[in-house]
Amino acid sequence: MLTKKQTGGDTSNLPTLWQQTASPSPKTTPLGGDSSTDIAIIGGGLSGLSAALHLSEAAIPSLLLEAGRIGDGASGANTGWWVPGLALLDAATLDARLGPERADALRVELAASARSIPELVRRHRVMCDLSTRGVLYAASTPKTLAKISREAERWAAAGSAIDVVGQAAMPGHLATDHYIGGVLYADGGTLNPLAFCNGLAAAAIAQGALIHTCSPAIGIARERDGWRVDTARGSVRARAVLLATGASPQSPWPAARNARYRLKIAMVASAPFADHGRSILPSGVPFTDMDSFDTLGGAFDPAGRLVMSILPGTSTRPRPADLAAPYWRKFRQIFPQAPADPGWEFGWFGHEAVPPGRMASIHEPEPGLFVLQGYAGNGINQAIHFGRAIARSMASGDRDAIEIGLTPLRPARGATIASALANRLLLPLARTLVYR
Ligand SMILES: Cc1cc2nc3c(=O)[nH]c(=O)nc-3n(C[C@H](O)[C@H](O)[C@H](O)COP(=O)(O)OP(=O)(O)OC[C@H]3O[C@@H](n4cnc5c(N)ncnc54)[C@H](O)[C@@H]3O)c2cc1C
Repeated sequence: MLTKKQTGGDTSNLPTLWQQTASPSPKTTPLGGDSSTDIAIIGGGLSGLSAALHLSEAAIPSLLLEAGRIGDGASGANTGWWVPGLALLDAATLDARLGPERADALRVELAASARSIPELVRRHRVMCDLSTRGVLYAASTPKTLAKISREAERWAAAGSAIDVVGQAAMPGHLATDHYIGGVLYADGGTLNPLAFCNGLAAAAIAQGALIHTCSPAIGIARERDGWRVDTARGSVRARAVLLATGASPQSPWPAARNARYRLKIAMVASAPFADHGRSILPSGVPFTDMDSFDTLGGAFDPAGRLVMSILPGTSTRPRPADLAAPYWRKFRQIFPQAPADPGWEFGWFGHEAVPPGRMASIHEPEPGLFVLQGYAGNGINQAIHFGRAIARSMASGDRDAIEIGLTPLRPARGATIASALANRLLLPLARTLVYR
């Protein structure tokens, strides 16, 4: 049994739907004694697992340390939707940030990565309830429709399969007349995120990576020809270290903890709907309402449970029904045919890393020590992509292989106070206002 302190990713310890439904994780043990490897990876979420898998595929030895269990952070607790895009960053801002050429190159890579997820799942026989129906971004106002259409054009130019859905076709996806149109990211889909993590861990181990769970890294020290990472019961010497600890407050490199904001997201899952939700989502395509601040929406899992991320309130251990109640009131204004009480069975929390630039960042604060973090809520595809990109760069020594470049590791202004303020005050306040 893990103690609260041992679980690195989250602090709520509320049972999740995914813990009940995911295929089991591969057998792993804590690190004991002293060992050595080429690359030490800290963090067994999607970023660390993708790096471990792709390093193994390049025949580079790696050893991954996870504080708790595989997928204990955001990676095993999220909504399980992947899309090619960047959550909080529109194309124009990305162009201005990276320059048009690099921004285009990044979009092409992320589009290809999104297309590669089903292939990754099949190649490694990952049992994760993969659905490749796409993800629908829905708009109820002309302004939002114009905005999401502009964005979609840029992703289409980067190679993503995009279907523009006109107003007449919307009820085929969403059984309501609330929406005037939408954009279907056909290269996206849904999966069981914890099962995906477990499957990637098994694949990485099968390719030769070493993974130790219940092994929090408690210190990182420079040595003459590399680095040493310490845990309570052992240590690893490595040529280079990758820190992929997400939003965890347990990151052993304090500067990494202070370089991003840590935002809380709540999750709810209902009891199975008898019709698998077809009276709400006739085509079974998950949707997100781009006019709503919390991007209200939903997806039905293979058992017919509605699963959704929502704004958190102030309670740290709410009953699932209380957590879902205000969100559900708003949902039923749009879908009045939805049952008044779908029997909320699960409610849990996760934390997401949001760097000041609102996009993934990779740093090398000291030679051979890399920090990868921050996907602002859209991390499945990005973690796979950037984990792979950094693995390639570490294998080849070519730092230019990373399209977003290496940036200095700078503190996010007031990271701790701003995160606490957002999680304890602003997000609960937004919940009250948005779910009126
Ligand atoms: C509720 C929620 C819903 C989301 N929904 C979606 C979605 O539908 N689609 C999408 O694309 N993205 C979504 N995201 C974002 C996505 O889950 C994250 O961006 C992504 O999983 C981050 O992966 P990561 O590996 O970087 O970090 P994490 O998954 O947080 O992994 C970090 C790992 O490091 C470990 N760790 C921490 N400290 C130490 C230490 N000292 N030693 C060893 N290990 C340590 C932790 O235990 C943890 O397992 C969601 C996020 C949340 C919170």
